Parts: sequence; structure tokens; C-alpha cells
Amino acid sequence: MQVTFWGTRGSIAKAGPTTVRYGGNTSCVSARTADGTLLVLDAGTGLHELGQQLARDGARVDGHLLIGHTHWDHIQGLPFFAPLFQPGNVWHVYGPRGLDTSISHALAGQMQYTYFPVQLHDFDATVHYHDLLEGQFEIGDILITTRYLHHPALTLGYRIEADGVTVVYSSDHEPTMEAEPGPDAVETLNREEAQHVAFLRDADLVIHDAQYLAEEYPAKAGWGHSPMEYAVDVACAADARRLALYHHDPSRTDAEVDVLVERARERAHDVGYKGEVFAAVEGLTIALEPLDAAESRVPFGSAMSTPALDDLPRTVLVAVQNRDADAALHEAARAEGFEALECVDFDQIMRVARTEQPPIVVLEAQPGRSLDDLADDARQIIEAYPEGATVVYVTTTTPPLHDIRPEITDWLVWPASQSHLRTKLRAWLLRRACRWQSAALPADEPERLAALWGLGILDTEPEERFERYTELACSTFDVPMSLLTLVDQDRQWFKSHPGVPISETHRDESFCAHAILGDAVFMITDTFQDDRFAENPNVARGGRVRFYAGVPLTLEDGHRVGTLCIMDDRPRVLDDDEIERLRQLGRMVEAELESTAEEMADA
Ligand SMILES: [Zn+2]
Ligand SMILES: [Zn+2]
Repeated sequence: MQVTFWGTRGSIAKAGPTTVRYGGNTSCVSARTADGTLLVLDAGTGLHELGQQLARDGARVDGHLLIGHTHWDHIQGLPFFAPLFQPGNVWHVYGPRGLDTSISHALAGQMQYTYFPVQLHDFDATVHYHDLLEGQFEIGDILITTRYLHHPALTLGYRIEADGVTVVYSSDHEPTMEAEPGPDAVETLNREEAQHVAFLRDADLVIHDAQYLAEEYPAKAGWGHSPMEYAVDVACAADARRLALYHHDPSRTDAEVDVLVERARERAHDVGYKGEVFAAVEGLTIALEPLDAAESRVPFGSAMSTPALDDLPRTVLVAVQNRDADAALHEAARAEGFEALECVDFDQIMRVARTEQPPIVVLEAQPGRSLDDLADDARQIIEAYPEGATVVYVTTTTPPLHDIRPEITDWLVWPASQSHLRTKLRAWLLRRACRWQSAALPADEPERLAALWGLGILDTEPEERFERYTELACSTFDVPMSLLTLVDQDRQWFKSHPGVPISETHRDESFCAHAILGDAVFMITDTFQDDRFAENPNVARGGRVRFYAGVPLTLEDGHRVGTLCIMDDRPRVLDDDEIERLRQLGRMVEAELESTAEEMADA
């Protein structure tokens, strides 16, 4: 894959003697795959020169334009992109959908007659617009994963996998915590940061926002851009092969970018980052070759699906005493078409949560209340819903860094701008509508269910002959939770469940339903970093499952009826010996199940 930078500057184009070497055009990068497919990331002013070069010989040129968000510095080149004015060309334009607006609508805005003489529908090429959510989609053989970045507009980052290499485009993003995510810090990252690192994981090239230096950042916090140090740290934590520092500040001279790069390399040395660090240069092309043939594609929900927005009432419960924050939240809710339900005390919050089921609950983190108190409140609220809720705390101080409370979906640092609040509301609702990924049904599902039901074990009392194996699993692996799970038609039911206070959940949120799809021990070393599970309610809302390993339980007739699994509240990896030990425990449970089956047959 060939990657070329056409615009490297952030915020506003800056032509002149101070930006000659690194370039003065705003965000635009092209990526061409081995079969000639052309992807363009963002449509800043750099897009103009790309268009000139593509249209030079007049031949047909098709492509795919992926827009991260519609701030000016990412779309201003669009009306000047020559291939769009060439009849016969076919272009696909992708971007984040809003709650009520489409990407084409947002792009048409900057081309209204007041601002520009040519309208969006005046393009001579055939242009198809695609609205995206968080998830995955394919363009031919190219797999693209999208993820909401942290920016005061709904912004998507793009992870592009093709030709055995991976490029991640993560522009216009700022940290959600004062993180120093070095190589060993994965356990201390909050959920957002852990998922950001996972999004960058093992990329051959990460193109990352690095507009500021650490000492400049405090004055610019909330503007949606990263300090260079953070970009180095996340590239390091993700073990990326190359890091291109991108979205250069318009006021930074070439000499100052040189200094930034020098300091970035020092930072890389200090945190033990082995990858290559450089600043994106306008006109620079990088050819990416695969390191090895191994592919690690994780299945994820579709980015192009229609979100289940209709199933979610567009309501937000607001219980915030800070008058300014409360008023601003109401204004943002109104602007986004949300009904805001005002609550004054906790009893009222619980009542409204039970009756109205607002998918988003915004509370205030009052000073003097401990993180445990806040998490307890959040858990009580979540338990009032069949499928949990998104619970957010408004705080005027820095959110807690190292204490991860899965009950708390997000922290809203006040003061915040209207655009930030509106973006947050949209992302919370769209994310809830996309959900996590439930397991596929096994090929032998009807026969498998018949075999399970034939055991006559569902909804029976706990039995010592099974309890001893889950207890043994807890002590052997030093974990707080173990389950003997039976995967039923619509639920998973636990014959034994030390450390887990419930006896069944819906099948959609079952890890074990994934585990029974194969023969091997199914292991999730860190649920925060796995797109199939990061939003699972057992991880994200009230649960505390950070690690999972399950051995499928296979009856003699070959049907996998459930698992023996262990879970932990911290990331872990089982070595080969431990996997073997878990498998042996599984064999013993299978023997007990077989004896049950024989008793049933005799009776
Ligand atoms: Zn920007
Ligand atoms: Zn922006």
C-alpha cells in the first residue's frame, strides 16, 4: 500500500516561508492499494493538488473519500477536487452520520450559494454518499474499522487493513485522561484510552494528531487535539511500527516542527518505543510492506448498518445542580432533539429510570462523594433497566485516572462548549444503538439444544459434584469468578456460579455463546480492547469482566452445550500449561454431564 501526504497542517492552511518543508495545506492523505483502489482520507486544502495530479491525463479516475469530520480544515478542498467535475468518474464519499443529518447534508452546507458558486449537486462525476457509525465495512478487499475520536464534533478515526498492512488515521483527537500510556500501562488506562490503543494496535503506520507540545496543551485542553507526547505514548502502547505526527499547528514553523520531532524521538526513547517516529511532510510517499502474512482481523459490527435508534427513546435524564452546566445540557439536548428529564434527588432519578427508561443519565459528581459512592449510584440506576443505561458524571475536576469503574460510561468535564456537549450526546446515543456483538448461532443449534435439554439439568439446584470444579477453577487460577454455563436457546444459565451473583443472563451478552463456536479454549485477555466485548453490559455497564477464558463442554455426540469458564477483573493471559489445566477441568465436568445423560437415558 502506498500512502501519500497531501496536507499535513491542522486548523487553517498556512502558506509562506515558515511552512515550506512540512507543508501548509490542511488534512489530506491518500492510500493506494496493490490492486489500484484509491482511498482518500479527509478533504482539506491538500486535496486540490491530489485532484490536479489525478485529473492530469484526463483518464477516468474513481475513488473513495473518507471524511473524519466536517470541520473546515477537513473539507475545504472538496469543491476544488478536479475528479468530481469529470463526467464518468465514480466517487464514494463516507463520513460520520449525525443523529438527524447525513454526511451529504453537512457537506452541502459549505457549498451553499452564499459561500461558493458551485453546489454539491453540481458535481459531474457520479457521487455516492455513505453515512458511517462506529463499526466495520469493506471496500473490495479493504477492511475499514471506524471509531469515534475525542473531538468537539462527531469525528471518526479510520483503521484501514489491506495488502497485509494496516494504516490508522487518527486526526483531531485528544486524550480523555492525563494518560501516560507507556508499554506497561495498559491496566491503568480508562476504557476510552484502552480502546483507543486497541484501535491503533500493531498498525504499520499510525497517522496521529500531534498539534501541541505537553507544555502548550493545558491552555488548549478541550480543543480536540493531542499533545505530541500522548501520540508517542499511545503508539508505543499499541506497538505500532511507524508514527507520523500530523495536524501540525498553523503557527508552528518548520524549525519548530524539527524541534517537535526531536523531542518526540526523545520521548520514544524514554518510554521504550521501538517504532519509527517522524513528522508528516506534504508530498511524502511511504510504501508499506507486510511484516508477515499473519492477519488479525477481529469481527465487529457493521459501520454502515442502520442504528437501532428507533428502539431508543431520545431522552436524557439530567440531575445536575451546577446551574450553568444544567442550563448548557438542556440547551444541547434541545438542539439535538432530545427530551431532557430533570431530576432533583436520587429517589426521583430511580423513579424516572424505572418508568421512562432514558438511555442516557447525566449526574453530577459532587465533591466529597467518593468514587465508590458514585459507582454505587450508577450501578443502582443501571439495574433499573433490562439492558443497562449510559451513566455519565459531570465533574469540574480531572476525572479519576487509574480507577476504572465500568458502571460509569463517561466523564464530562465542566466547563464544556455547546458543540462538545452536543457531540457527546450524539455519540452516547449512537453507541448505545450500535451495541456490542452477540455470538453467531452454531451450525448444529437445533440438535445442540435437544442434547442440552435432554440432560434435564437446566433450572436444577446446585450440586456438589459440579460446585467442586468451579471452586477448583477459582483457586487454581486465582480468579474471583468461575461459571459452569449452559447455553440455552435465549439465555445462558449457570449450573454453578461462584463469584457471580446471578444465575442467568440473556444469550446476547454471553461470552460462553462465543466460546461454544469452536473446540479450543476461548480467551479474551482484555475485554476493554476487544471490539466484540468492550460494550458488553458485563464489561461496560455494571459488570466487571476484564478477562475471560472458557473451555467448551462437548458431549459424546459432539454437541457443545456450554462451558466451564473463569473470569477476572483485570487483564490476564493464560500460558499453555494453564490452558491445558483448564481443558482438563473441562474434561472432568464433561464426564459428570455424561453421567447425567446416562441417568436420564436409564430413567
Ligand atoms: Zn482539524
Ligand atoms: Zn476538528
